[in-house]
Amino acid sequence: MKHLWHWGALLILLLAAAPALAAPAIQLDPSSLAQGQPARLRVCLEGAVSQAEVRLLGREAPLAQGADGCWQGLAAADLEAPVGAATLEIVSQGRVLASRQVMVKAHDYGERRITVEGKYVEPDPAQLARHWDEVAKMKQAYALATPRQLWASPWRPPLDSVVVSPFGRRSVVNDQPRSPHGGVDLRAGVGTPVLAPAPGRVALVLDTFFGGLTLMIDHGLGLISAYRHLSQASVSEGQMVKAGQVIALSGVSGRITGPHLHFDLHWAGARVDPLAWIALSRQPSPGPAAVKPAPAHPARTKERK
Ligand SMILES: [Zn+2]
Repeated sequence: MKHLWHWGALLILLLAAAPALAAPAIQLDPSSLAQGQPARLRVCLEGAVSQAEVRLLGREAPLAQGADGCWQGLAAADLEAPVGAATLEIVSQGRVLASRQVMVKAHDYGERRITVEGKYVEPDPAQLARHWDEVAKMKQAYALATPRQLWASPWRPPLDSVVVSPFGRRSVVNDQPRSPHGGVDLRAGVGTPVLAPAPGRVALVLDTFFGGLTLMIDHGLGLISAYRHLSQASVSEGQMVKAGQVIALSGVSGRITGPHLHFDLHWAGARVDPLAWIALSRQPSPGPAAVKPAPAHPARTKERK
């Protein structure tokens, strides 16, 4: 009986000690996730780790190691990701080194209701086949995983203009739900220079059925930006571009009613609000100072939300 008590006590001790032995903390900024909203991620792993990836809702993207040895990258839930608890994991060579639960909150981007007279124009089988072929090519580009962060400075919009159609809006056409808007439309006349918002590598230049002339840039860490309805591409696939470099001219190609630039952003294939990411990239990074606030300023971590 006494032995049993000893074992029981030992078990309780082990269970109590478990949190202290748990995997390193994964820091998110902002601290919770919302549909279509990006977050920056930071984790300090113990021991020698040569590569690390973040895994969330079936998506995976590489992390980059900072000068202090900690790993950083992004995490995001797709615009239409299921709302609720999800598991965020840090993986290295198939081993889970850290994990935590995150709540994916709903984000209301609003709705637009359109009533169209008559029937829609349905693409014919040849056009549909072309569309699915293009989707496959774009998916390949989204799967690119440059395990480096190719940008060092805050991002900038691809052109200085106004939003004519915001990101994420649900579309209801003749009371039929349609896909929400996966990017942001910026007002731009035909021939307006489109600038790279951040450095990267041109991942794709493709004339597509719906998106017209499309250009995609891989910025590393799973982040791919895209520009659609262009009239001309000024760079070619595989080329490295600098922030602010002219990459294309806007246009009216593909299925649109008037000229504009459709600008979208994907993290590991998840649709993310590009303007929200630009705003986040302009805020100071969550670094060591955010993890260990100076004793003189104990409230510093509470100021951030
Ligand atoms: Zn658009």
